[in-house]
Amino acid sequence: MLNYDILIVGAGPAGSSAALEAAKNGADVLLIEKKKIIGQPVQCAEFIPKLLLNEVEISHDSIAQRIKGMMTYLPDGEMVESCSPGYMLNRSVFDKELAMKAADKGADVRIDPLCV
Ligand SMILES: Cc1cc2nc3c(=O)[nH]c(=O)nc-3n(C[C@H](O)[C@H](O)[C@H](O)COP(=O)(O)OP(=O)(O)OC[C@H]3O[C@@H](n4cnc5c(N)ncnc54)[C@H](O)[C@@H]3O)c2cc1C
Repeated sequence: MLNYDILIVGAGPAGSSAALEAAKNGADVLLIEKKKIIGQPVQCAEFIPKLLLNEVEISHDSIAQRIKGMMTYLPDGEMVESCSPGYMLNRSVFDKELAMKAADKGADVRIDPLCV
């Protein structure tokens, strides 16, 4: 029988962050992910604002490109330009790294719950 303090369903950024923090604090954690590969397929536009780097540790490998601004095309055809300093993430790398960090701290990370 499986015996854990915490079961976390879904190894997206939220689930892996929760698993990382819980494992760091000594809990026995099981993190399960239904996809065969964590982070894939990517379902995100992958932009993060620069300020987020003050809050979240993001590796060099997870950053695809630096962003200075955005052009948004509205339904009526108008284009609005905005200064939006930030980065395009490589979300599949980012998600995988976060799950690996949780595993490094002792969380049991399993993909495809049918294998649990
Ligand atoms: C089209 C689109 C564009 C976006 N663009 C941006 C952007 O540019 N910038 C930005 O910051 N955010 C963007 N987002 C939002 C961002 O992707 C989400 O905020 C983020 O992924 C939420 O993280 P999460 O961990 O809560 O959920 P998710 O990333 O959705 O992770 C949930 C995980 O749980 C798994 N799961 C679900 N059910 C089960 C189950 N029963 N058993 C096991 N595993 C399960 C899923 O497979 C998934 O891996 C975008 C989202 C979409 C859809």
